[in-house]
Amino acid sequence: MIALKSGWMDEELEIFSDSVRKFFEREAVPHNERWSKAGIIDRSFWNKAGDAGLLCVTIPEEYGGAGGGFRHEAVITQQEQWTHFSGWGNGVHSGICAPYILGYGTEEQKKRWLPKMATGELVCAIAMTEPGTGSDLQAVRTTAKRDGNSLVINGQKTFITNGQHADLIIVVCKTGDAAGGAKNISLVMVEADSPGFRRGRNLDKVGLHAADTSELFFDDVRVPADYVLGGDEGRGFYQLMQQLPRERLIIAVGAVAGMEAAIDVTVDYVKQRKAFGKALLDFQNTQFVLADCKAEAVVARTFLDEYITRLGRGELTPEEGAIAKLWTCETQCRVVDKCLQLFGGYGYMMEYPIGRMYADARVQRIYGGTSEIMRLLIARAL
Ligand SMILES: Cc1cc2nc3c(=O)[nH]c(=O)nc-3n(C[C@H](O)[C@H](O)[C@H](O)COP(=O)(O)OP(=O)(O)OC[C@H]3O[C@@H](n4cnc5c(N)ncnc54)[C@H](O)[C@@H]3O)c2cc1C
Repeated sequence: MIALKSGWMDEELEIFSDSVRKFFEREAVPHNERWSKAGIIDRSFWNKAGDAGLLCVTIPEEYGGAGGGFRHEAVITQQEQWTHFSGWGNGVHSGICAPYILGYGTEEQKKRWLPKMATGELVCAIAMTEPGTGSDLQAVRTTAKRDGNSLVINGQKTFITNGQHADLIIVVCKTGDAAGGAKNISLVMVEADSPGFRRGRNLDKVGLHAADTSELFFDDVRVPADYVLGGDEGRGFYQLMQQLPRERLIIAVGAVAGMEAAIDVTVDYVKQRKAFGKALLDFQNTQFVLADCKAEAVVARTFLDEYITRLGRGELTPEEGAIAKLWTCETQCRVVDKCLQLFGGYGYMMEYPIGRMYADARVQRIYGGTSEIMRLLIARAL
């Protein structure tokens, strides 16, 4: 593995990282091809990950979590990439949904959902995107209207990670005037056994084939009025914005580990593949391409490590979160593309990990806010 040792790693994290790697190698990697063909990971894998202490690692022990921090989450994300385990929606479940509930939920909400999320009994999704709007979140049209002690939800969501598995969904709704902007947005919790909730297609994607990414439908779904996250309506947009730097940094962690994994498999390949009587690595072009890739990966890791440290100190700004996501994801796609080229035709075959890495990497520039939206955010702060 070409990855540099990060300054934020310590002995405890090294041991944790090793145990995560072994868990993935034992419980995920042997099944990943089958899961990719099925378009979904076995439901039991979530429970096994819960038993192994890999779910909700940043959640305090009193709510069933492991009481760790962002660095533990980063270790899990890295090992997914380094072991070539593709398509697990834990980044959404543990990295986004659980921190929302912990950060904004009432005590009752935290106790109701977090312990079950930590064991894998509940899989969680967050549903922001709709067929008519993604980047422009304020334009969501799903509504949650008061009716006595209930909220009645109507609308449609799409591209939702964990959409097929989800038992619990954080739904971005308009609680006030549907045409109104940010101040009318609330995060409403929906349990998947609520009447009127329906899952649509498990969408057929370019990459991340084992991930269940789905349409979701809400037709007069009735939930208790106190299922608004945090209890107060109209705070959803603020809640979403607060979490963004952290969410974008975890995508950046995956991007950097992804480029390291791509370089790793490529170095192995060019050492053994021969053309014109010598190993591909003996061509100066191969050496230069891989030298450029390695330089980019090392710069990316060094930069990322600084931002992880800044996040730990509570100093990472939304602009920096956007910079991290933009630059690492764009660089990942560039690096993986260059690596794939060195495989020739084999690079285009899904049986080689580089083909899968190429297909998986592409979405990094789209989800969690597109590269263009990252540029807008950075430009706004100039
Ligand atoms: C595999 C996958 C998993 C996902 N998981 C989830 C999930 O779990 N939950 C969820 O809610 N969503 C999820 N998404 C949705 C994802 O976040 C959106 O696709 C993304 O935010 C872009 O929204 P959109 O697709 O509607 O594109 P649009 O917003 O329609 O954008 C189309 C193009 O226009 C550009 N554009 C838009 N506005 C501007 C502007 N102001 N200036 C310049 N360019 C602009 C965009 O950058 C893009 O290139 C997922 C998507 C994928 C593909």
